[in-house]
Amino acid sequence: MARILMLLRTIINTITKKAAIILIFIMLAACQPQDDLTNKRQLFVFGTVIDVVIWSDDEARASEAVSVISERFNEMHTQWHAWKPGRLQSINKQLQGGQAVKLTVEESKVLKSSLKFSQLSQGHFNPLMGAVINLWGFHNDEYPITTPPPTLESINSLLESAPQVSDIHWSDNEISSGNPNVWFDLGGIAKGYAVDVAVEILQQHGIQHAIINAGGDLRALGQKGETPWTIAIQSPKNWQPLALIKVNENEAIFTSGNYQRYKAFDGKRYAHIIDPLTYYPVSEIVSATVIAKDGMLADAAATALVVAGKKWHLVAEQMGIAEALVVDADNRCFATQAMRVRLSDRRITCETPKPLTGGL
Ligand code: ADP
Ligand code: MG
Repeated sequence: MARILMLLRTIINTITKKAAIILIFIMLAACQPQDDLTNKRQLFVFGTVIDVVIWSDDEARASEAVSVISERFNEMHTQWHAWKPGRLQSINKQLQGGQAVKLTVEESKVLKSSLKFSQLSQGHFNPLMGAVINLWGFHNDEYPITTPPPTLESINSLLESAPQVSDIHWSDNEISSGNPNVWFDLGGIAKGYAVDVAVEILQQHGIQHAIINAGGDLRALGQKGETPWTIAIQSPKNWQPLALIKVNENEAIFTSGNYQRYKAFDGKRYAHIIDPLTYYPVSEIVSATVIAKDGMLADAAATALVVAGKKWHLVAEQMGIAEALVVDADNRCFATQAMRVRLSDRRITCETPKPLTGGL
């Protein structure tokens, strides 16, 4: 028991306390140390600690896979940053200057997915808001941000030509835009895509059982020995576990929220997630956790649900997400029925909202 607690404490200390809800590993296998085939590696990319836990007796193979993941993640962090020199910045500059940009197959896939999720979420997720993210100062990697919020005039002036999915025109793998304010910011799905790539790399290395946890956003392969990978949803208020979830093969569980990344000014907190309708930080939902079949969808959906407020479950439905849980600003938990049945060892009551009439 002491060993379990020690391991658990080590893990809790090493993960980044992101967002409002944190997902942590539960060391169920610590009960059977003689069979423990855990290979645990840590990376620090995307401003967060990334744990790769591989269940295998082949340590060399595990190390090789993790070093490939590390290389790919560092490359992505540079190339996909919306405000630092790299490929995405160059794409943004060309679009803003009215030029067409020829994309690689991978670039097309990621940008197309981001726009598709924007449509599915009825615009609550919008990957084209780099200008306003920049205006609020959320392009900064150092949190909390302490500069004053932007003026109403500057926000409204950006809102007048707010970029929409329809501003991006596709011709095969070439994109262009008529709106000089389009500015791709993939902060809401980059980690999801990265986790998907990591899973592919693990599979290419013949690894069948692993879990990759990017600061609370994770995806699982296989299971941990005889038992499924199990994670805890942790309270944003006091970091106590709220409930456990067994992660099925190939599921992604992602959380978005505003506890870790925010602006603090004059006694007020501003979340780093922006409502595309108002260009103001969201405040109604403190965090959203979703389960999906891949990381990119899970990441986009978690962000969209935080933005959607009371209509979170309608947006979840539109995005094809059956399992979702949100915590609101009054610390009330709501979850879909499908999510509720996934929760065990619950220390919180989550209501399932009644169907709303009127749609989105
Ligand atoms: P976390 O950083 O907690 O994982 P998210 O996955 O929700 O959170 O990503 C938040 C980032 O997404 C912000 O820092 C910003 O770059 C971008 N973003 C903010 N609001 C939106 C939005 N409504 N739609 C899409 N991306 C957003
Ligand atoms: Mg997200």
